[in-house]
Amino acid sequence: MGTTAVVLGGGYAGVMAANRLAASGRPGLDVVLVTPEERFVERIRLHEYTAGTRADATVDYGSLLHPGVRRIADAAVRIRPERRTVQLAGGTGLAYDYLLYAVGSAAGTAPDGAVRMEHLEGAAVARTQLAALPAGAHVAVVGGGLTAVETAAETAGNFGSLQVSLHSAGPVVPGLGVQTRRSVEKSLRRAGVELHSGTPVRTDGDVRTGLGADVVLWCAGFGVPELAAASGLPVNDGGRLSLDPALRVRGQDRIYGAGDAAVIDDPFYDYLRMCCAAAMPMGAEAAGNILRALDGKDGMRHDSGFRGLCISLGRSDGAVQFLSADDSPTRFHLHGRTAAVQKEIISRMTLRWIRGEAKRSGAYTWPTGPQTGKATTANTAPMTRS
Ligand SMILES: Cc1cc2nc3c(=O)[nH]c(=O)nc-3n(C[C@H](O)[C@H](O)[C@H](O)COP(=O)(O)OP(=O)(O)OC[C@H]3O[C@@H](n4cnc5c(N)ncnc54)[C@H](O)[C@@H]3O)c2cc1C
Repeated sequence: MGTTAVVLGGGYAGVMAANRLAASGRPGLDVVLVTPEERFVERIRLHEYTAGTRADATVDYGSLLHPGVRRIADAAVRIRPERRTVQLAGGTGLAYDYLLYAVGSAAGTAPDGAVRMEHLEGAAVARTQLAALPAGAHVAVVGGGLTAVETAAETAGNFGSLQVSLHSAGPVVPGLGVQTRRSVEKSLRRAGVELHSGTPVRTDGDVRTGLGADVVLWCAGFGVPELAAASGLPVNDGGRLSLDPALRVRGQDRIYGAGDAAVIDDPFYDYLRMCCAAAMPMGAEAAGNILRALDGKDGMRHDSGFRGLCISLGRSDGAVQFLSADDSPTRFHLHGRTAAVQKEIISRMTLRWIRGEAKRSGAYTWPTGPQTGKATTANTAPMTRS
């Protein structure tokens, strides 16, 4: 009898996982990818799309997925672990033997008068609004993280006639080394971005009025879908699906998770932030662990880490902060055009890694994480990396 592996979410984690499963060539394994959109969204390019420096931020799934992956254009509305089924918005009940939860993080809300541009629909609205602004109009970007910084720089770079400001409650990109952060702030100012840090933006009433802005782009953190919580699965305070270090839901031997929508509930893994650089290794590792489960083997403890953080600051400026595996900054950093080129190379590589995995299961490799000796003993089963 065949086995059905259902992957929920066609983003970086889900597509990588679906490819690893399908390209394994496992006889009788049916790989189903459920995702609402018709084309893959390159979320890491959405600031470019919003600012009009990129015509399209989507890619044909046909060019990314292994031909054996069966894609269903729908959204999951409920997971029923006791029946091993997923209820889809279109009415179908989909049976699974193994489930991978990878529904991402483009689910937050914005205050009145602001646009969230971290998902395609919001980015399209923001793009239209920016393009319609007269010279001298004011665009306020809210948030102090990478999405906000990249969006502000990209917008200022492409709309020289607009006034662009960046508003963050704390320092801009606090995780950077001091010198890198100073240099990023310098680049933002050079691009014409007015920096306001240290004051939270008021969200009562129309936020445009408070900021004196014509358009407000809201980039103050990602929110996750409520699907896991609504399905009675364990979630953390932020609603992310709670996993053991083998990326499996505790107490559910058939459900795994990966990417922004999931979190490993072991303090050792606190360094893994929501990002594509963590989502893809998690997707690949979770798929590998499903394949191991099919062979009756224990899953491997997730092992991924960071090497560098590439930031685009418009089309010809950028910064690269080199990192330790646990995401802490080292003293090495790059700036200017060289960094911008480096960022572009990495952005292109994401699609290349996904396509490589469609050709050969296991082709994608990633940087290892910090020493696991520091980990707690919260894991339920022995997990090794072969
Ligand atoms: C402007 C911007 C720039 C960024 N730049 C970088 C960067 O340079 N480097 C980096 O590492 N990260 C970057 N990120 C973050 C990165 O995009 C995310 O961390 C990454 O997309 C997470 O991958 P994922 O697969 O978990 O989720 P996503 O890529 O968000 O994919 C989730 C998928 O699940 C689908 N889905 C949602 N709900 C359901 C449902 N109910 N049923 C089925 N499917 C569902 C969605 O439609 C989507 O296809 C950036 C983000 C933004 C917004």
